Amino acid sequence: MQGLSENTGWFPVVFRMEGERVLVVGGGNVAASKVQLLVSTGARVEVLSAFLCPELERLVDKGAIHHLAQDTSEQDLRPRLAGCRLVYLATNDRDLNQTLATLCKAQNVPVCAVDDPAISTFITPALVTRGKVQVAISTGGAAPVLARRLRTMVERVLPEGLHHLADFMSAIRDELRQRIPDTSARRQLWEHFLDGEGARAALARDTAEATRKLQELEVGNAARGEVWLVGAGPGNPDLLTLAALRLMQDADVILYDNLVGPEILNYVRRDAERVFVGKKRNRHTLPQEDINHELVRRAQAGQRVLRLKGGDPFIFGRGGEELETLVEAGVSFRIVPGISAANGCAAYAGIPLTHRDCAQACLFITGHARADGVLNLEWETIALKNQTVVIYMGLTMLSQLCAQLVKHGLPENWPVAVVEKGTLPEQRVCEGTLATLPDMVAEQQIQSPALVIVGEVVRHRVISPRY
Ligand code: SAH
Repeated sequence: MQGLSENTGWFPVVFRMEGERVLVVGGGNVAASKVQLLVSTGARVEVLSAFLCPELERLVDKGAIHHLAQDTSEQDLRPRLAGCRLVYLATNDRDLNQTLATLCKAQNVPVCAVDDPAISTFITPALVTRGKVQVAISTGGAAPVLARRLRTMVERVLPEGLHHLADFMSAIRDELRQRIPDTSARRQLWEHFLDGEGARAALARDTAEATRKLQELEVGNAARGEVWLVGAGPGNPDLLTLAALRLMQDADVILYDNLVGPEILNYVRRDAERVFVGKKRNRHTLPQEDINHELVRRAQAGQRVLRLKGGDPFIFGRGGEELETLVEAGVSFRIVPGISAANGCAAYAGIPLTHRDCAQACLFITGHARADGVLNLEWETIALKNQTVVIYMGLTMLSQLCAQLVKHGLPENWPVAVVEKGTLPEQRVCEGTLATLPDMVAEQQIQSPALVIVGEVVRHRVISPRY
């Protein structure tokens, strides 16, 4: 695991707070926000302050907290510390907080001075709460604003009904432990459940349906494998979908090819098996039939197989063929789209793919030649103005492609761009015309993967800032 060797100085734990005494010193809004959090844990909260803000007054009136209407000096605090689980210092007097913190430390009571980690023995993390599920984020007090930003990110990723799902799993846990004593079998059953319809039902609080789905899994083959055909986008991990990321964390094995780089593989679960099925140096791609066969074999052996493809699996990705084999073999599957190279490269190069003035259509074509070296394309529909033509796998045949487009009617000075390693930090863009581009590309030694974009949209290119 990353970071374990570093000395962070802080250790997050989860305390049982029900019925515990907590003292909050201070009666303003800062105190109120901590008090609200504490009240929701079932702790007995006492607020020590001569003054109370309206929110705290409301909580006193409701009987949710106890008010000690006193000064907040050392002498006032000292007799209150015995039996206290935690102390929060939320006065706006830093020196006073410092004195009170020293007192708490001397009495061995954990103390947190709000916004002052240097004098605190514990700090409060940024929290995302969904019922019993709590995610706590800490930067060790170094950057609370960053912690809050991370909280927003986590909030966005967690599904809405997570607490219902947690409640469902918790309600059934003991019963399941008795029925399936084997820990790893039980874990596998839950994993399958979380991947499937049952979890979705539980999230939507449909307990009956969730129970039915769990039973189905239990009586069926709990080691049921499946294949996930997932688009990994054009290379930059920022462009992974949330679904792709989740499945990358869940898979037992991943089959990937050369468009899926280390930046993306970094996000795959550490202990998942990784099988490279792409082009090896000086060797041809693993025959497609072998890949198809491997997917079926592994799924039938009960593995959850992630077939990770560059871009989108259904755009020049042979996803369709793999899918047919799976259907024939009766293997369950899921398809997750990805951002295709055309979308990714265009955006990161600042070239719009359509434009009201000059491109009412956008064509995705392959520039891959047949085995006999012939480009078998409908040139009449490709060599048209008022459209953008995006050519995948067009680098090797670039000269022929440009020559054919001119031969079929496009002017020699028609704009073309090549985007090399689009969306990655090494991205290079080469802009020219049908007449000049092949030489420019050779001169600049543009390498694969590279995407060719043909059309007047290239003139509308805006050099975009790095993302
Ligand atoms: N399924 C993929 C395309 C596979 S074909 C998708 O949807 O994007 C492989 C071709 O895609 C490459 O030859 C290249 O033309 C293009 N390509 C893929 N990733 C690219 C990238 N990061 N930069 C430029 N071109 C890319």
